[in-house]
Amino acid sequence: MKSLKDLKPLILFLREIQQINSAVSLLSWDQETYMPKGGGEARAEQLAALEGMAHQKKIGPHMKRLLSRWIDIKTGVPEDEVWDDPSRALLREVFRDYNKAVRLPTEFVKREAKITSIAQQVWAEAKEKSDFPSFAPYLKSIVALKKEEASLLADQSSPYDALIDYYEPGMTVTRLVPLFAALKKELLALLEKVQRAPIAPRDDFLHRCWPARRQLAFGRRVLETMGYSFLCGRQDLSAHPFTTSFHPTDVRITTRMNEYNFLSSFFSSLHEGGHALYDQGLNAEYFGTPLGETLSLGIHESQSRLWENGIGRSMPFWNYFYPILKEAFPRTLQDIGLEAFYGAINRVSPSLIRVEADELTYNLHVMVRFEIERALMEEDLPVEEIPRLWNEKMEAYLGVVPDSDADGALQDIHWAGGAFGYFPTYTLGNLYAAQFLSQARKDIPSLETDIGQGRLTILTHWLNEKIHRFGRRYSSDDLVRRVTGEPLNPSYFVDGLREKLGEIYGF
Ligand code: ZN
Repeated sequence: MKSLKDLKPLILFLREIQQINSAVSLLSWDQETYMPKGGGEARAEQLAALEGMAHQKKIGPHMKRLLSRWIDIKTGVPEDEVWDDPSRALLREVFRDYNKAVRLPTEFVKREAKITSIAQQVWAEAKEKSDFPSFAPYLKSIVALKKEEASLLADQSSPYDALIDYYEPGMTVTRLVPLFAALKKELLALLEKVQRAPIAPRDDFLHRCWPARRQLAFGRRVLETMGYSFLCGRQDLSAHPFTTSFHPTDVRITTRMNEYNFLSSFFSSLHEGGHALYDQGLNAEYFGTPLGETLSLGIHESQSRLWENGIGRSMPFWNYFYPILKEAFPRTLQDIGLEAFYGAINRVSPSLIRVEADELTYNLHVMVRFEIERALMEEDLPVEEIPRLWNEKMEAYLGVVPDSDADGALQDIHWAGGAFGYFPTYTLGNLYAAQFLSQARKDIPSLETDIGQGRLTILTHWLNEKIHRFGRRYSSDDLVRRVTGEPLNPSYFVDGLREKLGEIYGF
């Protein structure tokens, strides 16, 4: 049987491409954290040059020659030698990437980069002035561009499918529509229960003064307890928190800081920490190949959400950490007990902004975007109609309507950047996370006690073992089935939330 050893020339070439990608990521990290403002234009040129180099290698004749040695370059089917599982997966995934890349002409890629780069600048200004009409013509060209892209990538029955496939391979509109419709129904019913509940937790103290240095120190302590390695990582500040990886031995996270909002910084740290554990948990031996890459955005998001919500908003976690938190913030929390704190961080309250939404309503924000994207891609919804539709849906699902488009249809950067099909992965991540965590509890019967005593790395090791180390070896569907014994099942998420909120709100 043939193994990865037989693919060495391909693996070395893939690694060479990855070295360029890692340099790109490092330059981007610097741009978001420490680069002086004046360096922006030169940095854009450095990035474009390196990205161009990587793309040339990815679709160039050498890659084609290498691949043709082992597979039929038109279909991706391996020549009739017998390959072991990792090699077969590697060939499948390399072909998948190659096939996508070669279908897009260089002229198209350049045009797309230019339009989205300008659109993001226009979007930023439009958001500032809450002026949707000034952004509309740019959004219109992006929608046309994405439809063109979908037709170049072809095959799929819906243009939206081709775009979703970038972020969550194998996921389709046909599967998402019933999944999200059922979930929406459950969440709306749950929201109604919450809003009718006789009691509601207070959360005013979360907006007292939380000194920045202590917030950072506490966040760092939690990250270390989770098993995030500061030897192979670091945390910095940025306007929008993110995780970036250059290699499993150098995975960096950022958080934001607001001294009057404990939730914002702490849960960002925990969220990015979950992403980072995934990147640090990849098999370095496979670096540069799909077997050493994260699987999909949905699975990535499942890792961040599992820590942020599944663990970070659970009672066992705070049984351990609340005394430590109280010691760090004795004045801020002097009159606040554990129960009150736990209620506050789990409080449900419909609001306008997705990134600040609670665990329940967050998914309703995603539904609004999913439904609008679908209408744009499949039903030719005119972009001028977006704000009206947005506000209608916000009213219907969340009962709140933005006063201005800045807090409405202009709030996210995704569409300006051409990222259509991205939003559904946020909710998929929530669903995967709940299902994985439920399985972890079955596999590790002592898990609650372990977490309650600060032994969080037991869970990290379980995630390493069950999910991280495989990279892209399995599809998301296969992985979920392998780990949990059943296909994606949203009831883990809904039931878990209903139980938790039922306790807090007394229904
Ligand atoms: Zn995330």
